[in-house]
Amino acid sequence: AADDDEPKRPPPPSRTQSKSRNNSLNARTSPDDFEFGRVLGEGSYSEVRLAKHRATQQEYAVKIIEKVHLVRHEKMPVAMAEKNTLVRLGTGHPGIVRLHWTFQDDWRLYFVLDLARNGELQTRISRLGSLSLDCSRVYAAQIVDALDYMHSKGVIHRDLKPENLLLDDAFRIKITDFGTGKVLGSADERTKTFVGTAQYVSPELLEDGETSKSSDLWALGCILYQMIAGRFAFQGLTDYLTWQKVKRLEYTFPDGFDEQAKDLVQRLLVRNPAERLGAGLPGSPNDMQALRAHTFFASIKWGTLWSDPVPPLE
Ligand code: ATP
Repeated sequence: AADDDEPKRPPPPSRTQSKSRNNSLNARTSPDDFEFGRVLGEGSYSEVRLAKHRATQQEYAVKIIEKVHLVRHEKMPVAMAEKNTLVRLGTGHPGIVRLHWTFQDDWRLYFVLDLARNGELQTRISRLGSLSLDCSRVYAAQIVDALDYMHSKGVIHRDLKPENLLLDDAFRIKITDFGTGKVLGSADERTKTFVGTAQYVSPELLEDGETSKSSDLWALGCILYQMIAGRFAFQGLTDYLTWQKVKRLEYTFPDGFDEQAKDLVQRLLVRNPAERLGAGLPGSPNDMQALRAHTFFASIKWGTLWSDPVPPLE
């Protein structure tokens, strides 16, 4: 409703004149280089549209952010954080949505991203009820592999959840939504107000307002539980009641939950962030290598994780 009083609506992206200014990622790209298609989704401050790069006919997802909206809702730091984090992650990993170009015109910012045609993992879990054990295993492994890369670049996601895990053409995971991402060592005003999403938030964030790489491992534990059980590990009637359960580590496994998966979840949903599997410094007994070596992942071929077909989801 806040947008109803907007005096002049800018033209749709496809008719935008090429007044764009460019940034360092690519000096020549502008909205005119793309043929914009259907809306893929909407976020709280953006619209994501399918777009074909005219020169190469390659399809992308373009995140389009109205500047007036950014300013009005004080979301500029979120957009900048998203861009900076994605730039830092670079071209590096198949499990992370890649930022190909950014540019702007008078009204909007444009982020040209890898297209993840099969939408959000959350939608699949909701539709299917839960995922097969084999698929859950491969998705958990893909998340581990992507987190390992992301953390090695000094980036913490901080809001990992199945809504932010997109699926590409081959149904492989692509982590997205770095608006809440944090680059380690950077001064970050948003840290003070950041709350995350109740079902995946770690106890240390609730209790001390602190996040670290290990908070992403907590979220992984919640996601693995959810893929297999088909429900949240922690869920109260309100966010407040959910937080209470998180703080008390109050969750139970449904009957028949795979024993090895259960063991892994229990090693991730640990109150002390330093004791979570994967949180240790390289070479320590609970480093990322130890996480990869967990028995739940015994059948995973890490070397071909991003080329092997994903097992059927159900
Ligand atoms: P917010 O950032 O406001 O919390 P969000 O993460 O859902 O919300 P966006 O990142 O703008 O917001 O994405 C909006 C929707 O567009 C997503 O829910 C998703 O369905 C779709 N989408 C986003 N990125 C892509 C992509 N790279 N490929 C395909 N669809 C995408």
